[in-house]
Amino acid sequence: MEYVIGMDFGGTSVKAGIVDDEGRIIERDTIPIDALSSFDEIMTPVIQWIKNRVKKNELEIRAVGIGTPGFTDKKRGILIAGAENIPSLKGHSIPGMIEKQTGVVAFADNDATCAAAGELLFGIGKKYRNFVMITLGTGIGGGIAIDGRIYRGRDGFAGEIGHMCLDPGGPHCNCGSRGCFEQYASGPAMVRLYSEKLKKRGIKPSEKLTPKDLFDAARRNDEVAMETLDLVGLRIAQAFGTLLNIFNAGACIMGGGISKSGDLLKKIVSKHLPDFVWPELLENVSLEIAELQNDAGIIGAAAQAYERLLSK
Ligand SMILES: [Zn+2]
Repeated sequence: MEYVIGMDFGGTSVKAGIVDDEGRIIERDTIPIDALSSFDEIMTPVIQWIKNRVKKNELEIRAVGIGTPGFTDKKRGILIAGAENIPSLKGHSIPGMIEKQTGVVAFADNDATCAAAGELLFGIGKKYRNFVMITLGTGIGGGIAIDGRIYRGRDGFAGEIGHMCLDPGGPHCNCGSRGCFEQYASGPAMVRLYSEKLKKRGIKPSEKLTPKDLFDAARRNDEVAMETLDLVGLRIAQAFGTLLNIFNAGACIMGGGISKSGDLLKKIVSKHLPDFVWPELLENVSLEIAELQNDAGIIGAAAQAYERLLSK
């Protein structure tokens, strides 16, 4: 049996684990980090964690897989941009440092690309050689599997589905464009939409409103919540429909924190999807919820490394 270390970099900690070649986490840990400290300070406990596992020498650790927010250059592993919550990572190569200090080969990728690799190797995506996936959370990430491989594009930045423009006159987005998919279906976008609708009906929304509150209200058949989710589902269908037309995928997968409430969204998206796809390209297409859920970070980071080892 082979093993890969998966590491998911977040704003307050690195979630780390050893993942076997069937996608099971056999050891897991949380390494606290101070997101505002220097690159070396962040990496010191991370490197030590890896060294301790490799030194034991009981398991054959084949590689280290890293997941981070933002854009990581696929050739050099340098984080170019987009990880604002851990600013000192920018301009550095996490896999480069790990390889130098531990001697273990390492690969880094965007966290949504990792999530897609996780589903492809160890989750619901195993059933499909071609799929498109979105991760719904604070933002919207994406991943594309083509013929059983994750498509990374020229530099490794492919899959920014959240920044596909759905309406050039829509709300401004932090990427500089307007009307990006993320502005209609991310967690904050859902909450904004729901709040606006409540206000229009003379109801003062709570300042602490979360996507969970919206889904809970919709489950209680709250009309405003259901209308909001219908608009969100319409936008998800618009995005998936466009992608199906381009990629002729066999499945559309919804992942990320919000997909825990995915059953409700799935129904709405299915209802709208035919409006956006050439009918032949929708035949036998499945709409799925990601399987890995809470473990998507560690398993996904490991999966993208397994996937890239295959092609080395
Ligand atoms: Zn955008």
